[in-house]
Amino acid sequence: MDLDKVEAALSALNAPRYRLDQVRRAVFSEAAASYDDVAVLPRELRDGLKSQAPILSLKERRVEVSSDGRAHKALLELGDGKIVETVLLRPSPVRWTTCISCQVGCAVGCTFCATGLMGLQRNLSVEEVTDQVLFWRQYMKRESLEGRLDNVVYMGMGEPFAVYDTLAQSLRALMDQKQFGIGARHISVSTSGIAPQIERFGRDFPQVNLALSLHAADDALRTRLVPVNKAYPLAALAKAIKNYLCETPRKVFLEYVLLREENDRPEDAARLVAYAKGLGPRELIHVNLIIFNETDTPHRASSEENARSFQKVLLDAGVHATVRQNLGRDIQGACGQLVVLERTHGQ
Ligand code: SF4
Repeated sequence: MDLDKVEAALSALNAPRYRLDQVRRAVFSEAAASYDDVAVLPRELRDGLKSQAPILSLKERRVEVSSDGRAHKALLELGDGKIVETVLLRPSPVRWTTCISCQVGCAVGCTFCATGLMGLQRNLSVEEVTDQVLFWRQYMKRESLEGRLDNVVYMGMGEPFAVYDTLAQSLRALMDQKQFGIGARHISVSTSGIAPQIERFGRDFPQVNLALSLHAADDALRTRLVPVNKAYPLAALAKAIKNYLCETPRKVFLEYVLLREENDRPEDAARLVAYAKGLGPRELIHVNLIIFNETDTPHRASSEENARSFQKVLLDAGVHATVRQNLGRDIQGACGQLVVLERTHGQ
């Protein structure tokens, strides 16, 4: 929902100003999916708003639910017919988190990422980004899913720092008490490593979490896996992280997808230890190890056992590290699996 559009529509319909608050409350607090559900509005006003300022800028194509019910993946159709994917996850019984996209496809082209295979199709608007959260709130109400959705991660399709202005505006909307009211500490932004934007982000949003998709602590290997490393190599990233930590004492999360016999060997773990320790105080650096979700790429997943051994090297060296839970594998909704391909989804 674009509140400016709603305001303009209300003005064109000669509605009094308090109607805006009624719409806002119904949409953001009560997850109204249709103006027809907003009984306080006169019928003519509802009809006018429906045509001039629709609640959602995207519509549901399909939702798939994992066998354990803890991961839901939606294919949402944008106004121009393009499709974007977003995921709703329940990592614990009381918490829901959504993983949202900021682009259709992605230009970064990480070699292990299904979205990277698509290339960039287009950027999303601010409304299309935040509407993914609104969609899930409506979905949870419709499906009577208990609990509250108040965690958002920008880890879906796209590189958030490639669309910084959209990212910034969408973050402000998510944190706005009169809109989504999500606490800054419940929002995380993940980047493949656009170094200058990391520092800017620390200044602009010191309370929002930052995750860096590292995946290798060796420049040659990282450039192969995450091509943006050529422009912003590990030394530039380290400098940006250090400056970031001067702006905010928030923990930085290093994401590390474990790829069998590529970046999951003991020497890779040792390099990661040295790199993580050089970034800042121990308590401010946390490594998330992710067992790769196999996609149509040549990469293969590390075993669970190998992931635990890798983690042990980090822990023994005093680096905080967890092996991340992977929800939604069976619906291709897990990390690195978001992609809209004709043959995958049959559109
Ligand atoms: S991992 Fe992220 S940055 Fe890399 S290609 Fe995929 S969506 Fe883009």
